[in-house]
Amino acid sequence: MAGDASTGAGIDAAVAAVDDVLEVAREELEALVRIPSISADPQHHADVRASADATVELLRAHGLENVRIAGVEGSQPFVIGEWLHAGPELPTVLLYAHHDVQPPGIVENWASDPFVPDERDGRLYGRGAADDKAGAVAHAHAVSAWLTSTGALPCNVRVLVEGEEEIGSPTLHAFLSAHLEELRSDILVLADAGNWQVGVPGLTYSLRGLAAVDIELRALDGPQHSGLSGGAVPDPVMALARLLASLVDEHGDLAFEGAFDGLLESTPTERAPIAGFDDAPQRFARAMGVRPGVQLVGDPNVTLHERLWLRPCLTVTGIDGHPIKGSSNQIVARASARLSLRLGPGQEPERVLAHLRAHVEEQVPWGLELSITSLEGAPAWQTDPTGPAFDAAKRALHAGFGVEAVPMGTGGSIPFVGPFAAAFAGIPALLIGPDDPGSNIHGENESLHLADWRSLIRSEVFLLRELARLDQ
Ligand SMILES: [Zn+2]
Repeated sequence: MAGDASTGAGIDAAVAAVDDVLEVAREELEALVRIPSISADPQHHADVRASADATVELLRAHGLENVRIAGVEGSQPFVIGEWLHAGPELPTVLLYAHHDVQPPGIVENWASDPFVPDERDGRLYGRGAADDKAGAVAHAHAVSAWLTSTGALPCNVRVLVEGEEEIGSPTLHAFLSAHLEELRSDILVLADAGNWQVGVPGLTYSLRGLAAVDIELRALDGPQHSGLSGGAVPDPVMALARLLASLVDEHGDLAFEGAFDGLLESTPTERAPIAGFDDAPQRFARAMGVRPGVQLVGDPNVTLHERLWLRPCLTVTGIDGHPIKGSSNQIVARASARLSLRLGPGQEPERVLAHLRAHVEEQVPWGLELSITSLEGAPAWQTDPTGPAFDAAKRALHAGFGVEAVPMGTGGSIPFVGPFAAAFAGIPALLIGPDDPGSNIHGENESLHLADWRSLIRSEVFLLRELARLDQ
């Protein structure tokens, strides 16, 4: 049944098929980018649904079978598809991506409309152009390259395109247990990570964990005249500022007790400085758009890559008091902040949040009323990037890009990876993807490097054959 695909004779035709329809892939990606599938915003949940519907059409059009929307109570729509005709003796590979996106941020800071794709200098700009609609379209094209050129895939394939990755996958565990048999696989391939730099593929083996809380401080029944009451009545915004400042030290490194609870000590190999990166912090700062004269933060005794990949940190991702516009001489009644923690290997979100809560309760200035709401949490994930599946991925990336892949960590989080791999007895997870350091995912002017995207799709075509050859 599998014919050319299983013997490997069809690889040249399959790789050539990628280029034949590259423009189609581009159009499909642009159509997805036009849908503002922002999972964090309830006002856009109809768009998340529309993007799931469009993803269903995409997978069907590329030859996947039994394509459907799946989910559990309260979840955003997941899309599942499959092609399982390679035979039971061959492995089943699960291809993962997500179709939801981050909010656009400050729209005025975009050089083009975040939801109208725009090409400039070989990059396609738009929210989700890289993270991760490019991953979903890459999977579809890797599959159809084989199907159109040889009539078969070299191994069994399932595809899962999530709709709630950008909000921390809140229903993931329920979803996995409800759909376990439909997702049963031998190897996981995620196209939601990135490349070491433009033209140099990455193979990601380490992700940070995630935990978040909302904190609100309330001082008053309602706002008060700042002249008649100021000097005696506490200002909740100032109280919040003092509280937030107590969470970090002078280096911006975490300073609350228990912030490093459970953190595994990195190995000498993990700690070893990375040439061209740890010794060039200014290059990293420039790539991140750090303004001239602004210092990088974190423990100065720890290398840059460890600070980014292997240690916890804290970001204030939202803050509410009163907008400057429309403000008057009042002390506001309440102020709040959303705190997002990234966690290092070994740290448990619930434990670190418990330490954070204890610190906040102890440090609240002037007896203000405190309320804390825990949000999503997911532990860090790490794997040993050695063994047959990783060797197969390295060969495939080399074939697709023409350059050796760099094993790398990332400071980002993909909550899906750990629970999914664990659900199937620790199957290998191969994290590749369309991002590069200039992609600015989650930021403004997100973009996809189009030539690297082509290389990624080609790599996936090779990867399916390489994985089919692994001994099971
Ligand atoms: Zn992503």
